[in-house]
Order: sequence, then C-alpha cells, then structure tokens
Amino acid sequence: MRVRLDKWDRFGTSIFTIMTQKALAAGAVNLAQGFPDFDGPEVVKDAAIHAMKNGMNQYAPAPGLPALRELLAKRQKERTGLSFRAEDEVTVFSGATEAIYCAFQAFFDPNDEILAFEPYYDSYPAAAFAAGAKIVGVPLAPPAFAFDPARLAAAVTPRTKALILNTPHNPTGRVFTRAELEIVRELALKHDLLVITDEVYEELVFTPAEHVSLATLPGMAERTVTISSTSKTFSFTGWKVGYAFAPAALTKPLRAIHQFTVFCSATPLQAGMIEALKLPPSYYVELRSDYRAKRDSLITILSEAGFRCRAPEGTYFVLADFSEHAKAQETDVEFASRLTADVKVAAIPISVFYDDPDRIRREQQYVRFAFCKGQATLDAAAKNFKSL
Ligand code: PMP
Ligand code: GLN
Repeated sequence: MRVRLDKWDRFGTSIFTIMTQKALAAGAVNLAQGFPDFDGPEVVKDAAIHAMKNGMNQYAPAPGLPALRELLAKRQKERTGLSFRAEDEVTVFSGATEAIYCAFQAFFDPNDEILAFEPYYDSYPAAAFAAGAKIVGVPLAPPAFAFDPARLAAAVTPRTKALILNTPHNPTGRVFTRAELEIVRELALKHDLLVITDEVYEELVFTPAEHVSLATLPGMAERTVTISSTSKTFSFTGWKVGYAFAPAALTKPLRAIHQFTVFCSATPLQAGMIEALKLPPSYYVELRSDYRAKRDSLITILSEAGFRCRAPEGTYFVLADFSEHAKAQETDVEFASRLTADVKVAAIPISVFYDDPDRIRREQQYVRFAFCKGQATLDAAAKNFKSL
C-alpha cells in the first residue's frame, strides 16, 4: 500500500482507554477515566426517548437544533452577560472534542504553533497534528500549578497563531483567576492571537473560586471561540453534545468544517439537552454541592492513604503526589499501573499530558484521581487503599 500506516502511531491509544482497560482487567475501582458512575437527570433521558419515539430520528440542521442553540445562547447570556446569536454564533458539536478538532482544522495551517498551559488535555496535540500544527506547552509549576508570565511571553514566536485555555483545568483542578486571565488577554491582544477556550468544567467550580470566561474580558469576545459541553454539566458524557460560541466571522469556518466532520450531532440527544437547558438554577447549585462533598471525601481518603494533594478549585479531579509511596525511580506510569493491578484503584499518570513526558517523569510524581463517583465507589477505593 502506498499509504503511511504509522502516521498516527505517536498518539497510540488514549491514556483513558488504557487505564480503564487495566482497571477492568484487575477488577480495580476506576478513579482514572473521568466519567460519572451515575446518570444525569431523568427528565433529560425522558426527553431524548420521547424525541426518538416521535420522529426526531433524521439529520438535525448541521449547526444544531435551533431551539437548543437558543437555550444555549440564553444560558450563556445569564452566565456571562455575553450575547450570541443562535442563528450564526452558536454551533452544536458532537462533544467539546469535536468542537476543538474543528476549531483546529478551521484555523490552523502547517507549522502554526498554539500555546497551551501544560499539562494539557490529550486531544489538543492530536487536533493540532491533524492540521500539521503543534502545541507549545507553557508549564504550570507544582505544587500551586500557576504559570510564570515571563515564560508565557517567551513562548511566543512568529509562528504562534493562537492560545488554547482550559479553565477549570484538567488535570490540575486549577480555576484561573481574573488576574491570570488578564495576563493571557494582554498577550493575545499584543500578538493578535486567536483564543480557543475549553470550559467544559465551567459548572464544577467550588467557592471561593470563581469561573471567568475569557471572552468577557475587554477586547476578547471578537477573538475568542468559547467551547463547552453538556457532558459534565448534565452527567451524560456518552451523549457527546458539545457546543461553541463565537462571533459570526469565526463561526463560519467552524461550521464549514463541522459539516464535513459529522455534519450534525445526534438529533434525539440534542432534543434531550433542550430539556436539560430548562432545568432551574437549583440544579446547578445542587450539582456543585454534591461535587463539593465528593471532592472533600476523596481528599480525606487520599490524605489518609498517604498522598499529598491540594483541593482543586474546580473540575472533578484531584492531583495526588505519590512520592511517599513510590519505589526507587518509580514513574507515574509505573505507579499508576502498580496501584491498579495490586491495590485495585486506578488513576491517570499525568506525564502523558506534557510535551516531554520523560523529563516530567524524572521531575515530579503525580497521578490524577476522579471523584465523579458515587460514595460507594469512593468508599471501595478507601478500603482498597488500606493495602497500599
Ligand atoms: N476538554 C477537557 C478538558 C476534558 O476533560 C474533556 C473530557 N471529556 C473534553 C474536553 C471533552 O468533552 P466532550 O465529552 O464533550 O467531548
Ligand atoms: N475527559 C475525560 C478525562 O479527562 C476522559 C474523556 C475520554 O475518555 N476521552 O478523564
């Protein structure tokens, strides 16, 4: 064959798939892959079933069901004060993953560079690679996982076209402060960069932390593609209903690539999400208080098991320093495998989210645990940790 079969080899199999398979093989409690082990609201499921039973089974309009786009625009206005027209500024995607992929294909050319705070989500380098572009990491230094503004400024080259900002941040749990976002804003304006934000954990923020959408800062709305998803907010990660807000000039190329990627996102699942978007404000209050209790429970469990961890300001992940438990020279990948196989609790080694995983493995020892789990699952992990 004349095609290259090894083109995507460097991306191999995602760490989430690898660790979930290891957890299943070992019979381990899976605190690795970030998916809730409970379902979202019944009304949302009922609405999707109703849609399926009542003829909503053919293609939706490529940009998304108009009623869903209207409700997404309404919610974004309530959340941020920003107005987006459903008609040409809101687009529904098959998950934030597809929105990110489309944004990268829409805006980047070969050899373009996109800045991202590292560790960064694994779909970014893959989406960049598909466009022939690359992610340039700017470190978030432990234990606080803050960035150095000088290093951010120094990362800009003539090839830098954009910055992708994930806040609340996976895997560190950081919610970037307004002051930090101001530094990002200044850089974007100074170098005329596009900004793509990944705000899929925007509803999972624990007071006193406050989520700020970068697009709300002066001068940013016109250069920002704001991406989010219903996956985490409504606990339906398998439905893959994501969305993006962007000014019409940026939405046009995004929609052009979206129609040749999946054309449209699943129609009855979009119909289900129309009901989700009608849930009262109390839904979000409860979501946060439930997750806060889970977060505190996991932190207690991890601390008692001898890990050092800081409470995340957002997301449903906790980073744990495992140096107390590490064998000589043990890397995060080796530790996560041993923890899964022997202790029967699965976690994600975070070195895979860095430009240079080998260097990071020598420098720091962190694994990520997810707390989007029922109390029984967290208790089972606590029990298994006793053999650590
Ligand atoms: N971005 C981040 C930071 C994530 O953790 C995830 C995890 N699911 C995604 C994007 C993808 O979201 P979706 O399920 O909507 O594709
Ligand atoms: N976002 C989830 C996580 O960080 C996993 C998503 C996936 O498995 N692709 O764990």
